[in-house]
Amino acid sequence: MTDSAASFGFETRAIHAGQDPDPVTGSVIVPIHATSTYAQDGVGGLRGGYEYSRTGNPTRTALEECLASLEGGRHGLAFASGMAATDVVLRSVCRPGDHIVMANDAYGGTFRLIDKVLRHWGIEHTPVPLTDVDAVRAAIRPNTKVIWVETPTNPLLNIADIALLAQVAHSAGARLVVDNTFATPYLQTPLELGADVVTHSTTKYIGGHSDVVGGAVITSDDELAEQFAFLQNGAGGVPGPFDAWLTLRGIKTLGVRMDRHSDNSERIAEALQRHPKVTKIYYPGLPEHPGHEVAAKQMRRFGGMLSFLVEGGEEAALRVCARTKLFTLAESLGGVESLIEHPGRMTHASTAGSLLEVPADLVRISVGIESADDLIADLTAALDTV
Ligand SMILES: *Cc1c(COP(=O)(O)O)cnc(C)c1O
Repeated sequence: MTDSAASFGFETRAIHAGQDPDPVTGSVIVPIHATSTYAQDGVGGLRGGYEYSRTGNPTRTALEECLASLEGGRHGLAFASGMAATDVVLRSVCRPGDHIVMANDAYGGTFRLIDKVLRHWGIEHTPVPLTDVDAVRAAIRPNTKVIWVETPTNPLLNIADIALLAQVAHSAGARLVVDNTFATPYLQTPLELGADVVTHSTTKYIGGHSDVVGGAVITSDDELAEQFAFLQNGAGGVPGPFDAWLTLRGIKTLGVRMDRHSDNSERIAEALQRHPKVTKIYYPGLPEHPGHEVAAKQMRRFGGMLSFLVEGGEEAALRVCARTKLFTLAESLGGVESLIEHPGRMTHASTAGSLLEVPADLVRISVGIESADDLIADLTAALDTV
């Protein structure tokens, strides 16, 4: 479905884009092309355009075409992890002396890469709250090349206005990059809102089953895509064919999963609102969330991530995390199974003492696609006893 792919609906593209039946065997599912190299018919006579699997592999190509189609971009590139994807984007767009404006609540690994690695190559950065467009404008310098956005953010689910930030970036001659991991292209398509590049940790919702680590970059800019592909091959942070296949298997159900993640989260947000031990809920689907209006404008639904504050401080929050039975205590997110964690002690422990420090009484949940009633009963039981 290559030519007319864009005219199909999301769920159709998730299942078919880049995934035509194998022309030789008829295999309905894209095979795992476990090969490092490809036979040539005479020197340079490539049969299918492939010469070496770091440069290209047919299973990876299928995933890359599907990712591009879902994000509404011309080019998709798959990586060994979300961080490998982030690294390639930043090192392609920025040179020594350049500057990045980023969210002050960006994913910790992204902040670490920018602050602890790229800094030593002379790339500067300014963290700002992306919900404050004036602060973003004020942070821009003549050498700013990238505004790096996540929305919703982790773990406080802040919402940035993608279309507005695209205007701000472009009027400064910078690129807007959106890490779309939390929303996924089913809920939000940043390229259509004016972003130049979208990145993903496909480890999360796109893979969706907590069984593979991967990353992705999507863009419609031919020149950028060429630079990304150059560094993808040049630095070699590519996924193996089995990882690409697992991710592609996960992607097929992305739409139905995101709807169920959103349904369950809405139900859980309602239930938590009624629980006396919950003092605050962070979920962009709630009308009182400060980013609700922007989220409703740029997202189809509000997704599966939700955080809340527990009465009784850190000890009470830790007890909730320890007492759920269906919600597994673990880092990461976006799988079919529900997870719970304490950001202050786990995913965001490194922010202690910094401006990004998260509340000690905060609990974050990645709402899975189990029965909502069971999830609510599990959370309620844990909260009842704290
Ligand atoms: C997990 C995550 C990453 C990093 O991805 P990996 O696949 O773990 O390398 C980047 N951004 C966000 C928002 C994430 O949640």
